[in-house]
Amino acid sequence: MRQLYEMLVQKLSGSVLWKEPMQKHTTFRIGGPADIMILPNSIEELHEILGIIRDADVSYMVVGAGSNLLVSDKGIRGVVIKIGPAFADICIEGNKLIAGAGATLTAASRRAQAASLSGLEFAVGIPGSVGGAIMMNAGAYGGEICQVLESAEVMDSLGNIINYTNQEMHFGYRHSRLMEEELIALSGTFLLKPDDPELILSRMQDITERRREKQPIDMPCAGSVFKRPPDNYVGPLVEKAGLKGYRIGGAEVSTKHAGFIVNVGGATCKDVLDLIGFVQSTIKDKYNVILEPEIRVVGEV
Ligand SMILES: Cc1cc2nc3c(=O)[nH]c(=O)nc-3n(C[C@H](O)[C@H](O)[C@H](O)COP(=O)(O)OP(=O)(O)OC[C@H]3O[C@@H](n4cnc5c(N)ncnc54)[C@H](O)[C@@H]3O)c2cc1C
Repeated sequence: MRQLYEMLVQKLSGSVLWKEPMQKHTTFRIGGPADIMILPNSIEELHEILGIIRDADVSYMVVGAGSNLLVSDKGIRGVVIKIGPAFADICIEGNKLIAGAGATLTAASRRAQAASLSGLEFAVGIPGSVGGAIMMNAGAYGGEICQVLESAEVMDSLGNIINYTNQEMHFGYRHSRLMEEELIALSGTFLLKPDDPELILSRMQDITERRREKQPIDMPCAGSVFKRPPDNYVGPLVEKAGLKGYRIGGAEVSTKHAGFIVNVGGATCKDVLDLIGFVQSTIKDKYNVILEPEIRVVGEV
């Protein structure tokens, strides 16, 4: 692995990091080291990286802003490719907004507003990247990526660039084609509607206010831990079970929103997983409802 790292340092202009603590790259502030982390500088470099990794026969995974990730305490073996600021361009073409996978959702939402385009208001305050949001089909307050994404540009593991239309993205609730195949989102084209920028702004402000009121946005966490079960809501269910504020180690069911688990200080991945398991079994026993994690658990167990 060290040899691969040294070769990557020699060949690439982007940053290559050795044993990089993943807690620095996740909003949960949890996670052991990635053997190698690479921040590619361009699409061409990403293509080159995939070739080198393939030749070295090493596994890899892609991360964005790390806002939906729970990384194991032992960390991630192989290579982590972080799609960051080098992929953060946003441009407007008529009623379309084209955003690089490394742009933040909030930046995309603000840019749309500035261009008097409506459709991305829901995305303001979701602390993820456009790539991560396409992967997760992120959504909030009645909006969802699949409602506005016209097409996504992706790279497959062989380095081929493919354009998928919305229909070809296999979107479902917190699901996309990127989960079915090894695909890296490079950019998304969003088809928006012209609207009064003041009205768009007021909708964004309303959403921001509702988030601030209801969610523990000032605490390290990864958003909603569980997917919404059919005909039910996670927060009220967990609260009804008396689990609000329940703690294991440094992990706590948020006292503000019982659908969130927060890191109150020094939480390990194990603490969070134990708490997730405890919440799941309690809710199953009490209400016969199965809670499925929405957050992505990755790394060596
Ligand atoms: C306070 C808070 C509030 C949140 N609120 C919401 C909400 O309202 N709605 C919602 O849907 N989510 C919410 N989230 C969760 C999270 O922000 C979203 O899921 C977001 O879309 C994840 O993007 P990311 O860049 O952080 O992805 P990461 O966490 O880095 O990765 C998530 C998954 O996407 C993959 N991935 C990342 N980038 C790429 C890429 N370029 N190509 C291919 N795969 C990629 C990763 O491999 C991983 O499997 C919230 C999180 C927090 C912390």
